[in-house]
Formats: sequence, C-alpha cells, structure tokens
Amino acid sequence: MRDMTGKRTPLQWKELFESEQFAQEYFYEGDDLGAAYEPEQTVFKVWAPTAERVELKLYKTGSDQEPGSGILRQMPMARGEKGVWQAAVKGDMAGVYYTYLVTADKETKECADIYGRACGVNGQRSMVADLAATNPDGWEQEHVALQTEKNPKSPVIYEVHVKDFSNDGHSGVPSGYRGKFKAFTCMQTGLDGDLSKPTCVAYLKKLGITHVHLLPMYDYGSVDEADSAEQFNWGYDPVNYNVPEGSYSTDPFHGEVRIRECKEMIQALHSAGIRVVMDVVYNHTYSPDSWFQRTVPYYYYRLNEDGSFSNGSVCSNDTASERPMYRKFMTDSVVYWAKEYHLDGFRFDLMGLHDTETMNAIRKALNELPYGEQILMYGEPWAGGPTAMASGFQQAVKANVELLDEKIAIFNDDTRDSIKGSVFFAGEPGFVNGKEGMEDKIRSSVLAWCDQKGGYRPHGPGQVISYVSAHDNYTLWDKLCLTKCGEPDFRKRDEAVLVQNRLAAGIYFTCLGIPFFQAGEEGARTKLGISDSYCSSAGINQLDWTRIYEYNDLVEYYAGLIALHQDFSIWKNDGMEALDRIRFLDAPKGTVAFCLAGTAADKWKELAVIYNAGRENADIGLPEGCWRMITEGAGFTRDRNGGLQAAGEIREKVRAAAMSVTILGR
Ligand code: CA
Repeated sequence: MRDMTGKRTPLQWKELFESEQFAQEYFYEGDDLGAAYEPEQTVFKVWAPTAERVELKLYKTGSDQEPGSGILRQMPMARGEKGVWQAAVKGDMAGVYYTYLVTADKETKECADIYGRACGVNGQRSMVADLAATNPDGWEQEHVALQTEKNPKSPVIYEVHVKDFSNDGHSGVPSGYRGKFKAFTCMQTGLDGDLSKPTCVAYLKKLGITHVHLLPMYDYGSVDEADSAEQFNWGYDPVNYNVPEGSYSTDPFHGEVRIRECKEMIQALHSAGIRVVMDVVYNHTYSPDSWFQRTVPYYYYRLNEDGSFSNGSVCSNDTASERPMYRKFMTDSVVYWAKEYHLDGFRFDLMGLHDTETMNAIRKALNELPYGEQILMYGEPWAGGPTAMASGFQQAVKANVELLDEKIAIFNDDTRDSIKGSVFFAGEPGFVNGKEGMEDKIRSSVLAWCDQKGGYRPHGPGQVISYVSAHDNYTLWDKLCLTKCGEPDFRKRDEAVLVQNRLAAGIYFTCLGIPFFQAGEEGARTKLGISDSYCSSAGINQLDWTRIYEYNDLVEYYAGLIALHQDFSIWKNDGMEALDRIRFLDAPKGTVAFCLAGTAADKWKELAVIYNAGRENADIGLPEGCWRMITEGAGFTRDRNGGLQAAGEIREKVRAAAMSVTILGR
C-alpha cells in the first residue's frame, strides 16, 4: 500500500477512504468539532484519523506581520474515538489564534481549523471566538418579526456582491463603509447624499424585493485582506467556510470584528423587512492545498482514475460531498450559518457537483430548525465539467431534479436562454430580441417547465428559479446590446434595447417559479460587454448608482412588476396545482397569451397576460368579462400607497402593443 518513499499514493488513499471499513470505523457524529469556547476553558477537537500526531499551536496574532505577534504555546493533542484529536486549554482563550500541526504519512503540515469560526487576517490562523460577545444589540430577538410574519411575501430575489453594492463614490455611503458589510447598516442614503434619490438599503426597500442574495461572503483567498481597497473578486474561492470574509470588514486583523459586522449587516436588512440569502461554494476549495487536504490528505476530494484531482468545478479540484465526513461538514456548516447568523436562504454554487443525498440531508437539517422550513435552498443544477463522483450517487443536476426535495430549487437556464438567447453565444438572440419560433419554449417558461417539456421533472414551480441574468455571463443590458446590429455602445441610452429589457422582465416576472435578478438589471446595468468579470476591477463590477437614476423609468417598471407579483396569489403557489390556474389563449405568431385564475383572496378574479415580441401590434381575443388595463408594457400607474392602479373597460379583445407585455385584470 505504499510507494517507493513509503508514502501512500493518492489512489491508495482513495481506495482506503472508499472502503466500507473506513467509513464504519471513523465516521464521527459529534457536534463538537472546532474550538468550543467557555470562559474557563476551550476544548479543541479535530477529526484527523490518518494522522500519526497532531499538535495545537497558539498564537497572539493572526499573522507574524502584526505588532505583538508571537507563539503562546504548542502542545500535543490526544487521539480519541473515531480519529478525533483533542486538547483542552484552561483560561479565557477568546481572541487567541491557533493552528494544528498535523503529521500524516510522515509529513507535518500546519493548518487552520476547518471548523474554525473566526480567523485572523487572510484566514491563515483560526481564532477562538466568544460568539455571544460578537452579537449586536438586540440580536437574539431580531429575526423573530420576520419569522413570525402572518403573510410572508412571495420571494423576489436580488443578487448582489457586498463590495458592488456600495463601492461607488456616489452611493451616499460614508467612505469608510463603502464596499463593506457596514454599508448595509446605513439606512438613510441617497445619490450623492440626496435622500430623495435613495440608494443601497433604502433603495431596496422602495424597489420591493424580498430577499437579498449575497455573493460569497465567507472567507475567500483571492483578495489580500491587509490591503484590499483596490482589489476585487467575486469570491468563489473559499478558504475558511465558517468565517465571514475579512476584506468586507473594517478590521480584518481582529477576528471578532468581521463576525460582528456581518451580523450587523444581516440585522439591518432584516429590520428593513428584507431576508438574506448566502451564496455557498462547497464544491471546491481555493486550492487543493487546503486546510482539508492538510488535515486529512485526499479525504475531502474526488480523484480521477489516474490519481489526479477531479476538476468538474474548473477551479482545480472537486470536493467529495458523498464522503460521509464532508457531507457532515457541509450540513454542519449550513446549519451553523443559519443559526448563528440568522440567514434565510442558501444558494449552492455548482450544485450539480454535489450528490442529491447530501442536498436532501441539508434540507432536512434546516427543516428541523425553528422556522427552518422558511429557509430557501436553491442552486445551479449543473457542473463546469465531468466529475469523479463515487458510484452509486446521483449528481444534483437538472435531469435529476425529481430526486431533490421539493424545497430545493434550481436555476432554470431554459427560461433564461429562451427569453433573451444563449449565455454562451453573445450574438444569439431569444424571444425578446428577434429569434422566431420560440413560442412553445416561452409557454413552457410560463409553466416553469413543470410541463416536463424540457425532459426533466420539477415537483412544482416552487422548485424553479425564473430569471434572465446573474453575476455570471453578460448583464441583461449587455446581452441585448450584443444581439443588436452594429457596434454596441453599452453606455448609451437606447430606446430599442430598453423596450426589449422591459419585455424580458415582464415575461419572467409573470412566469411561474421564483423570480431572481442580478442587482442593477432593473437599472440597465452594464459591465461594458465583459461576460466573466470575476476578477475585473471594482469599477467594472460595482453598481453605478448614477446610472440607476438615469434609468429610473426602467427601475419603476421593475418595481411595478414586483408589486404585481405580491398582489396575486398564483406566484406564491409552489405546487403543481398552480398549473391548473393557467390557460393559454389563441395568439398569433410572435405572441404568447394566457389567463391566470385568482382566488377569493386575490384582488383580481383573473389576469390576462400577453407577451408580444413582434414588431406589430396584435389583437388578442379575451375571455368574457370586463377587463381593466394594468400595464400596456411601458410602465405602471401607482396610487399614493404604492398600489397598482388599473384603467378602462375592455371587452372581447385587446390590442397588445408591439414589443411589450400587456397585463389586464378582471
Ligand atoms: Ca479572505
């Protein structure tokens, strides 16, 4: 079982870890891994069954570059049951930094604690945290009002990056908080200080979205926290999974600060009535030389037949969700964030790399928390490439959606690409920008593909995210500019593109499924034609609050769609029965028309929705009754309380304007 040097080869490790005997002998069920802090003592526990020796090393600071640095102690840990090593240290250890020295297969490696809940600058050392001391005032009760809401709103998800949100010098956020967690705690901000033009959280409140989905905000490796002002990365390169990212805090050197400020952000959003979803990236690590690899070599990764790292993530490695101790890690980590940080949802990056059993186990664990069933779970039902998942497991990809719990939703790329064209081919249009013959796909999009015409079988519309743009790929605006003839000018206001933008939004907001959009889509966000801006400058990535006000008419249109979404119960309906409330109407080429039946509680008995992607107006026959116009496609009329107003008495037929979504109610 050894190579020439007497060490195990990667494939020998793989064989060992895939054996039933290893799983039986070493699966550890305890919930006490990591550093368990009490004022009198801290108990450190690390699972390292392949280690010959483990030592605990205590430091004064998170790095050697800080004043006062130095080693406090180094002590051996004792091996206990199931390969868990343990050491207890007397005294109040809060704020003490630590690492493990793990000797496995004759090599000693220093690593932070994979279960660490706090860390120093750049996540190189874990820190013992007194978590209770990191809670902002009122933290214990802050979530209750939302959790006990009588009529929770139907989710409308807004995807934003912590730094993008407020980094713009016009955001109205004080300079020390721009790009940080703290920006979310500034509740009264306006464009260049003009409060009549709200920005940031005040703006989101007005827009009406229900959930802010934050791009990865746990500790990632691509930005130097010691000097992060001019740096930018999306953050899909995790280092410490249970710790907030330091560059988003005002002080990355003191481990408790980022925790408190992250909690303050969540508390502030909750106080604005907005729930918080966290983007989680358990499918790979920043580098294969991770704390996981240094703690238990090769246990946490999938290996190819030749012993190389599987790379379905296209980020150099794939973690192995099907391995019991990684499944446990993922579950423990998600539950930890939900409980400790009061999160309301999780978005799984490349969920298709995870196995369906693990995803369902996480759902079950969340459901068991108080109000846990309210917590959203959704993910990307694809992978970057093939992965070496162990046999007997199924990938959580679109084709396997029926194997996932009905409360685990998937991003629907069929809706996304049918509406405005493929994400892979810049110039390829969809229904709103000139492609013909798309009517059937748009009808399936209306039904959130629950008609099974995509060859996969969602349990219901609640399992589908309906969207056209996210951080990946072109912004909607850029994509629409790229499918026009001629050289695109992304910065210029273009009425023809605006019309297509409204049409696209009007479609996915009236489809079944959970609406989701990239921050700034509602304000013609441009990244100047850059499709993959993960490491582009902050200037390319950040929200341009001036531009958002230049396109305020478009923003108002989105706000109207969001209000309509809350006004009508069908979009709160997660189950298949929602489909029974939809009937399609006769409609000419280039148009799709349908009625949505209301319930007794709804403001409308019925809505009629017409998508006209043609260049000519279209006359559409309406079912019997007196219909009133809610929107002809350019905007909505709101009353003083923000309610949607409807006008006119329309019978038998309606003229649906070209390149517009017409919505009527009766
Ligand atoms: Ca970091």
